[in-house]
Amino acid sequence: MSKIAFIGLGNMGEPMAANLVKAGHDLIVFDLVAAPLERLKKQGAKIASSALNSIQDVEFVISMLPAGKHVEGLYLGDSALFEHISKNTTIIDCSTIDVATTKKLSAAADERGLNIVDAPVSGGVAGATAGTLSFMVGACEENFYNVKHILEDMGKNVFHAGTAGAGQMAKACNNMLLGILMAGTSEALQLGMANGLDPKKLSEIMLNSSGRNWTLEVYNPCPNVQPNVPSSNDYEGGFALDLMLKDMNLALQASLESKSSTPLGSLSRSLYAQHSNIGNGHKDFSNIFNQFSKN
Ligand code: NAD
Repeated sequence: MSKIAFIGLGNMGEPMAANLVKAGHDLIVFDLVAAPLERLKKQGAKIASSALNSIQDVEFVISMLPAGKHVEGLYLGDSALFEHISKNTTIIDCSTIDVATTKKLSAAADERGLNIVDAPVSGGVAGATAGTLSFMVGACEENFYNVKHILEDMGKNVFHAGTAGAGQMAKACNNMLLGILMAGTSEALQLGMANGLDPKKLSEIMLNSSGRNWTLEVYNPCPNVQPNVPSSNDYEGGFALDLMLKDMNLALQASLESKSSTPLGSLSRSLYAQHSNIGNGHKDFSNIFNQFSKN
């Protein structure tokens, strides 16, 4: 079992850290917010007084922060952990951030003889809680095999996407597709409802027809079609629409850099931006359903 520092215990980080404690690892946790720290303490984790305090004598540091600026701030900026982390420690950044920041961190780590891998996740809060996340890892072969067993204690699929930044690139492609699928599923459901169809019945039909996709399987955007999904809980919890918008911006940024044609991604990104601008950014991203409402 390993000694692990876990920094960033929000919607995703807290259940991921809890699964590492359950698997028997020795965990020390830090967040700017106290409540998740107290809950994890009850499950057996130690609380650190600062990010710097958390990384002493650990084999792994895992970060799960909102965006690139937070991750850069932690390792190179205000907290400057890169100046204090031991060369024997491997850093695993599970946050979803831009490829450019990931590559900058990787180059800065190389200069200092440190090991960092990007390992963004897919599977949402439900997957984080159940320990069934998919990890997309950008790392050299040696670092990938070094972190694989730790990630397997929080997920069921651990993919080696390629070298530094490849995990983030795979995540950007996946989430662009998810954003498109959620918008498309919402559009189809609203069209059916506006023409007299029952959303539950329509969902069942599409789920067993060629329109089948992940959002219909486990994350239906129409309220009260499925239990225990954000749409049936006033779009609370889950994956904030603003975080989806961030991911779609990351995909767009990559498409600009590579001169790729991503018309569906660009259009969907605009829909999420519009929906965020009218006050829905903090709600679950399946709230995009209401963007297509006739009322
Ligand atoms: P969140 O906002 O719920 O949690 C982020 C946590 O980081 C907060 O608790 C915050 O206090 C903490 N934090 C911020 N700066 C910090 C610092 N300097 N030191 C310590 N703690 C700090 O976000 P989340 O939903 O848990 O998402 C985290 C990451 O995972 C994001 O990059 C997101 O895009 C990605 N992600 C989220 C989901 C999802 O369904 N929520 C799914 C896949 C990937």
